[in-house]
Amino acid sequence: MSPMAIATTTSNLTAQGIASSVDKTAHSLVTESSSSNGVSNGNSTKAADAITNGAPKIVSNGTATPLPELSAARLNIALTSNPRTVPAAGSPEIASQKVCTDHMIQARWTVSHGWDAPSLQAYGPLSIMPTASVLHYATECFEGMKLYRGYDGKLRLFRPNLNCNRMLMSTNRIALPAFNPEELLKLIVKLCATDGAKWLPKDQPGAFLYIRPTMIATDSALGVQRPKEALLYVIMTMFPAMDTSSTLGGMKLLASKDDMVRAWPGGFGYAKVGANYGPSLVAQGEARAQGFDQILWLFGEKCNVTEAGASNFFVVWKTKEGKTQLITAPLGDKIILDGVTRRSVLELARTRLEKDGELEVVERKFDMFELEEAYVEGRLVECFVSGTAFFIAPISLINFRGKELNVDMKEGDMGTYTKTIKTWLRNIMWGKEQHEWGYVVEEKA
Ligand SMILES: *Cc1c(COP(=O)(O)O)cnc(C)c1O
Repeated sequence: MSPMAIATTTSNLTAQGIASSVDKTAHSLVTESSSSNGVSNGNSTKAADAITNGAPKIVSNGTATPLPELSAARLNIALTSNPRTVPAAGSPEIASQKVCTDHMIQARWTVSHGWDAPSLQAYGPLSIMPTASVLHYATECFEGMKLYRGYDGKLRLFRPNLNCNRMLMSTNRIALPAFNPEELLKLIVKLCATDGAKWLPKDQPGAFLYIRPTMIATDSALGVQRPKEALLYVIMTMFPAMDTSSTLGGMKLLASKDDMVRAWPGGFGYAKVGANYGPSLVAQGEARAQGFDQILWLFGEKCNVTEAGASNFFVVWKTKEGKTQLITAPLGDKIILDGVTRRSVLELARTRLEKDGELEVVERKFDMFELEEAYVEGRLVECFVSGTAFFIAPISLINFRGKELNVDMKEGDMGTYTKTIKTWLRNIMWGKEQHEWGYVVEEKA
């Protein structure tokens, strides 16, 4: 398979793409361990079995033993002996984003032994060598999700399977080991069930925790090579509600200058890998110093609009023909992230707004000059960003090479479409609307 073909299957996130990607890793491991004794193993169904059951299996033909897969059934639980107190709502500790819950999930992988049994253990420091691959070569990827305390008292995740699938896709992009995303989801759910009741009390509906699944390569050897050791961990942290406090009155975006790009075709902008974020912080720092909240990342000579900060970017405008359109950049070039919130906005807009003929939903390349023209001609209706961290945040201003586009905020704090879509999503996340996207976490009594 050519590298391009691999990238296509794994970024699809279809069930088939996932199975093939997990299978491929299981295989390459089998091949790697068996090639040393000159025996090849072409049995793909056995490896796939091992993956669906999550338990190691012995291949009966005696040529090779597939390595253990990541398996939530093997979880070892060691609860903390030092439970901490939960900081009060609105306290500076929460704003610091340093407070994590009592526990975390960890699972170690090595090329020779596959996945060790995962553990649920006290939250605390990691121990890695100064030579660890992640510290030198950015062999790291992560996810961002939230655990919501619903108005019906239940704990919910929002479409968590999409995050787990995307995590697999990201690990693929940077040579970290594959795993069955369903097993990752089970581990996340276990952590949520363990810490949820204490850290998201039932009498505080509307509260949430931020969940950060992470994978790092831990090889303690400086050679630049495919990782042979990795650590998967999941932590949960307290987070201020970013869509209300810092962005009240709308976010201000500074369009990136032509000497800096976030991502490029053939790169890794579509993967949630740490390497995308560190290098963007200089531009972000400059934007903040000038009074802006985020960078609006443009790409190419035509100044194509891609994403804003670590959020997807949407525009509502009227076309020259007078049609109302919701437009966002396409995923095809693989320079933007396939956001779970982005997908959800598009799906809700298609099923609830487009159907009624209210507006047309479009994923296509569009550029700053089109946006500017729409603004000058009074056709720019609303702009907003979408992402787990910022949720749905209205944009009040875009600065493009010194020119300012002031975006209307009809509802006082945001545009009408922005508000409608945000309310729909909020209702699903916090259980005001029962919807298949809301994944209920059963708590311990
Ligand atoms: C995480 C992220 C998003 C938002 O994705 P969600 O799944 O909606 O949280 C958008 N763009 C970038 C670059 C991101 O890292």
